[in-house]
Amino acid sequence: MNVQLWGTRGSLATPGEFTKRYGGDTSCVEITDSSGAVLVLDAGTGIRALGQELPPDLRRIDILLTHLHMDHIQGLAFFSALFNPQIETHIWGPRSTTLTLRERITRYVSPPLFPVHLREVAPDLQIHEIPGREFEIGTFHVCSELICHPNPTLGYRIEHGSAAVTYMPDHEPALGLTGGYVSGDWTSGYRLAQETDLLIHDAQYSRQEYVTHVGWGHSSIEDTFAFAELAGAAQLVPFHHDPSHSDADLDELILRTVDKLSPSFTVTPGIAGTRIQIGQTREPDG
Ligand SMILES: [Zn+2]
Ligand SMILES: [Zn+2]
Repeated sequence: MNVQLWGTRGSLATPGEFTKRYGGDTSCVEITDSSGAVLVLDAGTGIRALGQELPPDLRRIDILLTHLHMDHIQGLAFFSALFNPQIETHIWGPRSTTLTLRERITRYVSPPLFPVHLREVAPDLQIHEIPGREFEIGTFHVCSELICHPNPTLGYRIEHGSAAVTYMPDHEPALGLTGGYVSGDWTSGYRLAQETDLLIHDAQYSRQEYVTHVGWGHSSIEDTFAFAELAGAAQLVPFHHDPSHSDADLDELILRTVDKLSPSFTVTPGIAGTRIQIGQTREPDG
């Protein structure tokens, strides 16, 4: 699998001089397999640039939404595939007890929040509520689970051959803990992250900032490192950066955490434009 980060910012798009290296666009990650099949994780503002780079012979694209917070859907109506009759577009997302997924997406893509209605923008768009904990999209095996974040929010584990990528951009697994994680079985998202090759995970706050944001649905970078360690992830991408964090702040935050915790996994900063190849067979432990 090839993974490309298109949007790594959390909460609000934050363009500008001080965020241009890590990027100001909100959550969007692209996964492709060797046949060229494209799976997109979230439709934050980063999806607009992805739309400009799609191969001309692409005939189908699938978008998995973790949840419906604005920073994860705001780019949807600006995604070129929706307007291209040559491309069959499918959106997958969490169920809710109140409205269908289509009704919830339409709340944004309709007046007065958007000038035209979703059915006018994309008459052939196919929308699916996640059918169960495990399902297939083409050659990708998808595992999903509700995770700790306000409103129904899914984490995803995408498997292809022996490789796995886990995506949890908004997640607070340490909520309610007074010390470290007790065990995997009692930790939100653990099953999805267990022994994953690549964990793309919420790291919105510094340890100090988290103290005043407990329960907001996001993680301190130190809790994220501890979660990756607990799960046995091989590589971590700290993701969903706080809008107030500049490039220099993020460099410092990530370096300081690596120095302090000496993780057993590789840390790849969540910088928009980064490409990561996953799929080499992992060496057996011991
Ligand atoms: Zn978010
Ligand atoms: Zn959210």
